[in-house]
Amino acid sequence: MVNKNISGTTKICALIGDPVEHTMSPVMHNAAFQKMGLDYLYLPFRVRPKQLPQAVAGLKALNVAGFNVTIPHKVAVLPLLDGLDPLAEKIGAVNTVVNNNGELRGYNTDAEGFLRALLEHGIKPQGRNVVVLGAGGAARAIAYILAEKGARLTILNRQQELDWAENIAQLILDELHQEVKVFELGDIANALPGASLLVNATSVGMSPADNASPVPAGLLAKVPAVFDVVYNPLKTKLLSEAAAAGAQTISGVDMLAWQGALAFEKWTGKTAPIDLMREEAVKMLEQLED
Ligand code: NAP
Repeated sequence: MVNKNISGTTKICALIGDPVEHTMSPVMHNAAFQKMGLDYLYLPFRVRPKQLPQAVAGLKALNVAGFNVTIPHKVAVLPLLDGLDPLAEKIGAVNTVVNNNGELRGYNTDAEGFLRALLEHGIKPQGRNVVVLGAGGAARAIAYILAEKGARLTILNRQQELDWAENIAQLILDELHQEVKVFELGDIANALPGASLLVNATSVGMSPADNASPVPAGLLAKVPAVFDVVYNPLKTKLLSEAAAAGAQTISGVDMLAWQGALAFEKWTGKTAPIDLMREEAVKMLEQLED
């Protein structure tokens, strides 16, 4: 599966994060490079927060083609880059870096990856009432792109961290001049009526605590479509209960595959084999579940 013809011309892409043990990105990207006959190799590196500046300088010195950035470095990496895509700058987080002749430019393909997954399932944000659960990094990227594409948003977060949700609402007001409603997660019953899409952008339901859902099952009959950004397990409790309630469901693995595909396209200039990348991620997730 991995490039077996590594030579002096092989281009390197990397992932930096902490931890990186369970990442799906190497299997997705290496399978895609091989399928497309590209002389590239993707490698994960565990980088401790205090070593982030050296790691980024090292990747630049080694002249890698690009790299992904994951938890906990998505925000801390910003000042270490030479330039930022406007969307990444507004969201304030980078998950993909491209090396343009020694200049490192940061992008946020989580936001666009979410959007592509949504559109692929036939859901256009324009004019929709969307409820987003969570106010962390994923929620910020998703809320911003949804608002940019014309959705009307309500963001819910836990009471003790409501400031984070208010912060996203303020960003969207300042940048896009759109009002966003903010509720406590405990008020979900009041937020859901009239929503045509519910997005779980919290980590609730993620393995190993996968017997949890952020939404009481009884409320799901009111929502026509549910997108869970959690991708491990593939079928979260929320998605199972939403499907049982008759909702259209979208798994976080679709966003995962699309954020990878968009990074691949930035590094290689080629159209990514999205179906293969998704299949590889699903295969690995199924193995983890066994
Ligand atoms: P994060 O910045 O740590 O944010 C986590 C969010 O989950 C916060 O809003 C947090 O609320 C909330 N939360 C955590 N535990 C909770 C609980 N018990 N009850 C209610 N809310 C809770 O993490 P992130 O980077 O946004 O990631 C969130 C999830 O998205 C993770 O599962 C991650 O794997 C997934 N993700 C998926 C993709 C993809 O491609 N599919 C991409 C990025 C992230 P507080 O603010 O109150 O702490």
